Amino acid sequence: MNILRRILNTHCLFHRLTGLYCPGCGGKRSVYLLFHGHPLLSLWYHPLVIYGLVVMTYYIFLMIRRKIFPVYQKKPYPTWPLWGAAILLFANCFLKNLMLVFFHIQPLSSNIY
Ligand SMILES: [Zn+2]
Repeated sequence: MNILRRILNTHCLFHRLTGLYCPGCGGKRSVYLLFHGHPLLSLWYHPLVIYGLVVMTYYIFLMIRRKIFPVYQKKPYPTWPLWGAAILLFANCFLKNLMLVFFHIQPLSSNIY
């Protein structure tokens, strides 16, 4: 548990150097909050974590469906969830930095550990 706490307490180098949030900022806190039963806070800190779980579940469903029903084996996997992830990653980073720079709100500032 001590090792996990040390990993979670490491800070982002990009944020230290620039003062801005990188696309991954808030990700560790989001996972931590999700595992501790706070899905809405997890969504706030980094929406890609919950989105990723939903998309992974969807792809697992598609893989199982392919195994059970051979008619789906020739159908390609959809790429829209990956485009959605890229857009979500960019939008999250952009909006949090917008709050930080123009409104002086620090959306990822609270220490939750
Ligand atoms: Zn970062």
